Order: sequence, then C-alpha cells, then structure tokens
Amino acid sequence: MILLTPGPTPVPENIRNAMATPTLHHRTPEFEEIFKSARDLTKDLMKMDEILFLASSGTGAMEACVTNLCKKKCLVVNSGKFGERFGQIAKAFNKEAVILEHSWDVPVCSEDLKVILKEESDIDSIFMQGCESSGGLRHPVEEIAKEIKKYNKDIMVVVDGITTVGVEKMDTTHIDALITGSQKALMLPPGLAIIGLSNRATLQIEDNCCGYYFDLSKELKNQKKNTTAYTAATTLITGLEAILKQIFEFGLEDFYKVTKKRHKAITKAVKEIGLSIYPTSPALAMVTVSHERSDEIRKILKKKFKVNVAGGQNHLKGNIFRINNMGFVEGYELSWALNAVEMALDELGERKFDGTANKVFTEVFCK
Ligand SMILES: *Cc1c(COP(=O)(O)O)cnc(C)c1O
Repeated sequence: MILLTPGPTPVPENIRNAMATPTLHHRTPEFEEIFKSARDLTKDLMKMDEILFLASSGTGAMEACVTNLCKKKCLVVNSGKFGERFGQIAKAFNKEAVILEHSWDVPVCSEDLKVILKEESDIDSIFMQGCESSGGLRHPVEEIAKEIKKYNKDIMVVVDGITTVGVEKMDTTHIDALITGSQKALMLPPGLAIIGLSNRATLQIEDNCCGYYFDLSKELKNQKKNTTAYTAATTLITGLEAILKQIFEFGLEDFYKVTKKRHKAITKAVKEIGLSIYPTSPALAMVTVSHERSDEIRKILKKKFKVNVAGGQNHLKGNIFRINNMGFVEGYELSWALNAVEMALDELGERKFDGTANKVFTEVFCK
C-alpha cells in the first residue's frame, strides 16, 4: 500500500534502521550527545531561539502551549478541526477563549484579528494553524504575527506548524511558539512533539510555571542541559537526529524546492483532468481536491490501486480528498497515484482515461 495521507507519512527505510539500535538509557552521556545534536539540528530547521521535545503526539504540544502561554484569555482561529481543537483545549483548562469561526477554504487576515483584539483588550495570546490540515489551507501566519506584534508586542503568538515546519521556509521572526510533530513532514513514527520558542515565550514560561507533565519551565531547565524532566522518547529522538541529518545533507533549501515543485506538478496534473483545488490559498503540505464523489474515488484508489489518500471531516466529509506532499515523497509513487485517480474517474464514468494526469505530473516534476 502506498501511504499518501498528509500524516502520518511513511518512515524511510534508513531511518527505520537508525531507530533499530539497542535502547539507550536516557540519563547517559551517549544519549545526551544524540539529544544535543537533534536539538541543534531542530533549531536550525525551525529558526527559533529555544526548542523543546515532548513525548506526546502533536496535540500534547498544543495543550502545553495553551496552558503555558495563555494567562487568562486567548483568541483562537477556527478554520478546521485543528483550530477547533485549540478552542477545546482552552475550554478544558478554563481559559477564556474568543473563537474566530472562519471558513475552511479562505485564509484569515490580520485585520479580522485586530478587530477582535480592539474589542477584547484583555486577550493575551493568539492560537492559529500555519496550515489548517482539514482543508489544506495556508494562513499567512508570518504576516499576521508581524501585525499582531506591531499592535501589541506582549500578545503571545502561537502557531501550530505541524504541517508547515519542514514543508517550506517560514519567517519565524514574530512567532512566539511554533509547534510541530514527528509524523508529518519529519517522516517519523508518531509520538514526538516539538515546540520552538522565542526568547519572549521562554521568559513567560519561566515565571509562569503551571501544570505537571507539561510544565514547560521544568522541561526548559532540563533540555538546556540536553536531558528531559521525564524519560525521553529516546528512539524517536534518535530517528529525528537521523532524518534531520539526511535533510540537511540533501540541503534544506533544495528540500523545500523539491516539495514546492512536486506540489505544482500534482496540482497541475489534477487540474488538467478536470478536478478543482479546494482552498483558495493551498498549503504545500498536501493537495486538497474537491469532488462530490471523493469517497468513491478513495475506495477505488485503495482497493484497486493500493493507494491510501485522506478524505475530509465534518462538512467536507465525502467532498474532498487530500494527497500528501510532505517529506521525501517519491515521484514514481505520485505517478502511480495520479494515474490511479484518473482511472477511478474513468471507472465512475466521469472522464475517459487517456493518461493525462501522469503525463502532466511527469513533465512538470521531472523536467
Ligand atoms: C496532525 C496535526 C496535528 C496533531 O495531531 P496529533 O494527532 O495530536 O499528532 C495538529 N495540528 C495539525 C494542523 C495537524 O495537521
């Protein structure tokens, strides 16, 4: 089966092997060396002042940011399931949350947020997605962060970058916390969450300790010394060091360039066979196709062609399918997958098969 869902993504064989070494004890110089190396590489990737690793899925890092960086009241952009989740976390911890309910296919703009900030002057933090994976929508978080800081530099700007980090170059200058997870662009098994922090965020965390497992002040103190408050996810951190070394050897800029080119090629291929793209501002992490027979298409892809792509949720259930573009996705896998999409459309009587999708993809991606 070809796994082409926008997370989890396949783990390359050499990385699986790198994680197959005997378990190291986490309180040893041997592991601390790996930890330090993974930490330095992650800092280079995320371009943030400080980095924290947490043994949890991405949602753990989302929760940690809400509990540690929202003092009392936050503003949450909800343009999909993951934005909705920030609101649910805030509620679970009795934080006041102003929710900006937004369409799933159009990016939010800084003006929308500033209107709310002016009305609710006690908002101390903002939570939003770089890419809202529910619809594959890219929000202009860099520009929004810049505008928010211009408006009030004390407002903490938290970006869930789980499907943005490692996908494209981000300007993190005005972002206070940037979240990512192991199972998306970093091509690792699930279970490791990462938070990049600005100096301003670390200061707030240090004088505002809270929670227990996700007390980030405790983690900061330990991780600066290349260890963790509790048992580290040693295997995943070993895998993280290996994949980041591989990405940097490949060249980070080149890695982003290939990702962008592949996105262009997939997009052109699906458009050429008459399909349309769901969001007005598509994120590079995936290609989201809107089609009212998406579930039938996905079923054929899986059964007949052994290709696994993701569907949609809520009002998008059955109306979209999402093809992953994160990580080292092989061109030959996409050739096959796009060919399969075209065959599925033929089988459903939507369009006669003539090999256009694969042809267009190959021309754009390989030339
Ligand atoms: C995958 C994803 C998450 C994290 O979900 P977990 O299942 O907890 O790892 C959070 N935000 C976005 C935008 C995602 O795509």
